[in-house]
Amino acid sequence: LIRFEDVTKRFGSNTVLDRLNFSVDSGKHVTLIGPSGSGKTTILRMLMTLTKPDEGTVSVDGEKLFPAPEKQLREVRKKIGMVFQQFNLFPNMSVLRNITEAPVTVLGMSKDEAEARARELLDLVGLADKAGARPTQLSGGQQQRVAIARALAMRPRVLLLDEVTSALDPELVAGVLDVLRDIARTTDITMLCVTHEMGFARDISDQVLMFDAGRIIESGPPEKMFSEPEQDRTREFLSAVL
Ligand code: ATP
Repeated sequence: LIRFEDVTKRFGSNTVLDRLNFSVDSGKHVTLIGPSGSGKTTILRMLMTLTKPDEGTVSVDGEKLFPAPEKQLREVRKKIGMVFQQFNLFPNMSVLRNITEAPVTVLGMSKDEAEARARELLDLVGLADKAGARPTQLSGGQQQRVAIARALAMRPRVLLLDEVTSALDPELVAGVLDVLRDIARTTDITMLCVTHEMGFARDISDQVLMFDAGRIIESGPPEKMFSEPEQDRTREFLSAVL
């Protein structure tokens, strides 16, 4: 479903991705780990078509993203939902409207259908009683769960998660991770996840990719990566975060 082939990205003299190759099959859950600045967010931004590679190809569902006509990029963006560290909810809209806005305006869904779907999703993330609230009336963990529901409302094939619990107070982290575990277990959505929550990564991942300086230095199933990594660099990184 997702394929990076020999992808290089530089910012000035800083090579952020260095001839990177990897692919993610439909329905799989892949976690990207590695030190700050190793290029993980850049990969997610490329999939959202927010950043272009300097060399190499990125494709989603068999379609190359760069270059591609704007119309085709719009179609690709519809297949991909993203949740960020900062929740970025629309502060002047109710929780329900935050979730229905894009399905109505971008997908042309009827308001009734979008609202029915939004209520199902609020139920899924444990916030059925908050439809009428404003984001500012919610805790950070609740806001992040709304952001997850909002991403899912577009029925994306891929969910990109970029350190979605890093901005939360510690006691709110578990609730958000539980919701994501549920989604991983009960849907067929493909997940690409940047996280420092290694317990969560171990639970949901089919594969873990360890990044360092724009390269994947080691990859494998979570049991292997967390219990018996081969690279010293991976061991060092894990002992610092675990
Ligand atoms: P983090 O965990 O800190 O988010 P990361 O692995 O996700 O790290 P990236 O955010 O992909 O790393 O960034 C990789 C490098 O690219 C960093 O050195 C960053 O400063 C640089 N970088 C990212 N975006 C830009 C930009 N728009 N202009 C210049 N440099 C950038």
